[in-house]
Amino acid sequence: MDAKMQAKINGFMEEVKTRNGHEPEFIQAVQEVAETVIPYIARKNIYSGKNILLRMVEPERLLSFRVSWVDDKGDIHVNRGYRVQMNSAIGPYKGGLRFHPSVNASILKFLAFEQVFKNSLTTLPMGGGKGGSDFDPKGKSDDEVMRFCHAFMTELSRHIGPNTDIPAGDIGVGSREIGFLFGMYKKIRNEFTGVLTGKGRSWGGSLIRPEATGYGTVYFAQSMLETKGDSFEDKTVAISGSGNVAQYAAEKVLQLGGKVVTLSDSGGYIYDSEGIDRKKLAYVIDLKNNKRGRISEYAKKYKTGKFVSGKTPWEVKCDIALPCATQNELDGKNAKVLLKNKCICVAEGANMPSTPAAMHEFQKAKILFAPGKASNAGGVATSGLEMSQNSLRISWTREEVDEKLKWIMSEIHDSCIKYGKEKGGYTDYVKGANIAGFVKVADAMLAQGVI
Ligand code: NDP
Repeated sequence: MDAKMQAKINGFMEEVKTRNGHEPEFIQAVQEVAETVIPYIARKNIYSGKNILLRMVEPERLLSFRVSWVDDKGDIHVNRGYRVQMNSAIGPYKGGLRFHPSVNASILKFLAFEQVFKNSLTTLPMGGGKGGSDFDPKGKSDDEVMRFCHAFMTELSRHIGPNTDIPAGDIGVGSREIGFLFGMYKKIRNEFTGVLTGKGRSWGGSLIRPEATGYGTVYFAQSMLETKGDSFEDKTVAISGSGNVAQYAAEKVLQLGGKVVTLSDSGGYIYDSEGIDRKKLAYVIDLKNNKRGRISEYAKKYKTGKFVSGKTPWEVKCDIALPCATQNELDGKNAKVLLKNKCICVAEGANMPSTPAAMHEFQKAKILFAPGKASNAGGVATSGLEMSQNSLRISWTREEVDEKLKWIMSEIHDSCIKYGKEKGGYTDYVKGANIAGFVKVADAMLAQGVI
């Protein structure tokens, strides 16, 4: 990149930092986009003088509210709730809710910003948003989680709707929480609509939605491998996380003939040299979803498994790495170890799990690297399919939804190739995803004028 372009990017980032100085995750997400999109904008006259990216980094609306609730002992607690309505140029705001003690405005703005690009890539008409709370569901009873969700929705219900903003799950928000949230929305608004996605099957949910993010990540990795005439067959795969995304990524890897050797949670990771097969995976799913246990228990149950406390799985030798836990969980040092161990493909199931240093290592080594906004878009895409089914008041079969998901993932892959293929044949999927996501939103913003 020439010095003039770098100065332009630096100038833009200075402005973003001045306004959002205390938001490191948000600045990190914007920087990654700026580095690829600003040079593209500079080559396209239609965007000249329109300040499109500057408009895109400012949320259309950022809501913050008090959530008071009572625990089982009768003690009163106060948490902070948020909804970031980032961009509605191509459709109603759409994006998950995260309940985790680390949640703050920076994390939700980074997630909402990424969501705008991701939703644009899906081919579906969805704007971008994200929300959540610093509430920690861990260790809470079902009744406490219900009271919190009800209190949260009492305020959130004023700001969302099936044509306005459609939240879904994310870390700490699964089918149990979506149920409680939906129940309260329905009661307050006296309407049964598709205002949330990730709903239960009997009350408007879509088949394949629980599986979609994990499956989609593996479909995307499969498309990348195919460009090299390769596949998942007999590959050793390291996966982080053991929640929704990790579970179904593991399931799809097994279906495609790969061997999953790790899973993790915030306590550490488990390594099973013989592979986590279907039976062992079923145990993990029950442990995490029903018993709400810790991944360390795997090593007690299976002699082939060993638990490594306080570490991430990236030190394990693997062909393919699927980070599916959380942001910045794979740093530059981890990336170097993966590369030394001959890892050929990294597809992000989580949002921004690779630090900028890790990403640059992968790009320098020219291995297959997919950013989350492309590879994990299957979740929100299937949420979009759930919205369509709700509006049409119909329900597609498992095969129909899976086919649509596969088609969408391959369209996203094609878009990344279109904008990311470089001379010499290497595809920069980060650049491809950022520019493809940007173009659709930017063109809609141009058409709608300065608002
Ligand atoms: P879950 O809550 O189901 O699972 C999260 C997993 O990540 C758990 O194993 C959790 O461990 C682990 N984890 C969370 N925080 C940390 C941390 N700080 N360090 C190490 N491990 C951690 O969430 P999901 O599976 O839904 O989400 C995982 C990622 O995928 C997130 O980045 C999310 O934004 C992204 N994503 C999710 C989508 C979805 O459809 N669910 C869609 C697209 C992206 P522990 O139990 O110890 O907290």
